[in-house]
Order: sequence, then C-alpha cells, then structure tokens
Amino acid sequence: MMFPVPYIPSENYLGGRGFGADRSAVAALLKIPGGQLKHGAVDLIVPPNTPVLAMEDGVVTKGPYGFFLNVSAIEIKHTSFIARYCEIHPTTEVRAGDPVKEGQVIGYVGNQPGADMLHLELFSGTATGGLTLDSKNTKNAPYYRRKDMIDPTPILDRLRFTVAQRAFRPLKYVKDADGKIYVAFPPEVIAANVLGNLARSLRNTVPF
Ligand SMILES: [Zn+2]
Repeated sequence: MMFPVPYIPSENYLGGRGFGADRSAVAALLKIPGGQLKHGAVDLIVPPNTPVLAMEDGVVTKGPYGFFLNVSAIEIKHTSFIARYCEIHPTTEVRAGDPVKEGQVIGYVGNQPGADMLHLELFSGTATGGLTLDSKNTKNAPYYRRKDMIDPTPILDRLRFTVAQRAFRPLKYVKDADGKIYVAFPPEVIAANVLGNLARSLRNTVPF
C-alpha cells in the first residue's frame, strides 16, 4: 500500500485539514438544512500538478467527473477499500474501466480558487450506491457520505515511509511496458524509507 502523493505534505492532515473537521461555514454557503457539515476526508495540501498515486492495485469504477470548483474526482476499487481521489485536474491518466497498479500516477492535483490539495475519501465497500448522499436530507448529516465511509488518518499514518518525508524536485517519471506512469523516487528516499520503516516496526514491537 502506498501514500497517495509522492511526499508527506508540510501541513498536517489532522485538525482543520483532517477527518471530522467542522465545515459548518460550507454548510451555510451550500444552504444545507440544519447547517451541520463535517469533513469526511483528509486534505493533503500540495501544489497543483503534484502527481496522485494509486494507493493499491485496483480498477477505476467512476470518473473523472466534476467535483467542486474546476476540479474533478475519480473512484477506484482497491483490494482493501474504495478510494475517491478528489480535487484533481480534470484530465487524468486513467478513467473508468482501467486497471491500476499500486503507486501508478492516476492524475494530478488540480488548480482551484484558494488552497490546492488531494481531498481523499475512503469507504470500506460494505455499502452500495453513490458515495455522496443527498444534502437536503438531514438524516445524512453530518457527513452526507455513504455509511461505509472510513477515517483515512490511521491508514495514511501507517504509510508515511512509502514516500519522501518532504517535498523534492524535480519529480521524475518512469513508464512500464504497459505505459503506466510511476514516480521515480531518488535512491536516498528509498534508503531513508527502509530505515524509517525499521524504526517504526521496532517502536511497535519493543516495549519502551
Ligand atoms: Zn477536503
């Protein structure tokens, strides 16, 4: 499994950018009855055109389709969950029906008014139907998302050493025999991740 952008964003994906954050200001703007709205996603704040990486092998089930201002979303059924990669550039590298490989570049972060980000939503796959629920029905409050939505935070925390720990440039790409595009991580990033994962597993197994 892989972190969905090539480096850990400098802005934390907890708190205001995190899962469950208050979005009542947006609710007022959208005139949602009851005025209650919570963030059913994590925001990974990165510049426009940052590549978005498939978190696992899977198949694109929907998209790209419009999602918010000038940006799009794509839905992928992975092995462990369904991921909706949102606020990406409308032109993507994959579309509905395409198989994807873990780490494959599926698209790029979009350019919208205000902050640019990958807004990531995860669903366990135990429910069926559309991922967004009717915002006029208060029964769907406060997330207005399908019932099987899950908090991506613990999964992302576990994946921190699958990508670089801070932004790096230039981003270089490689293509496999099928034309799938991947980020070519510098050797020092790969070496640092081996050490990072070792430290993490020690921390988890050795009682300090
Ligand atoms: Zn968001």
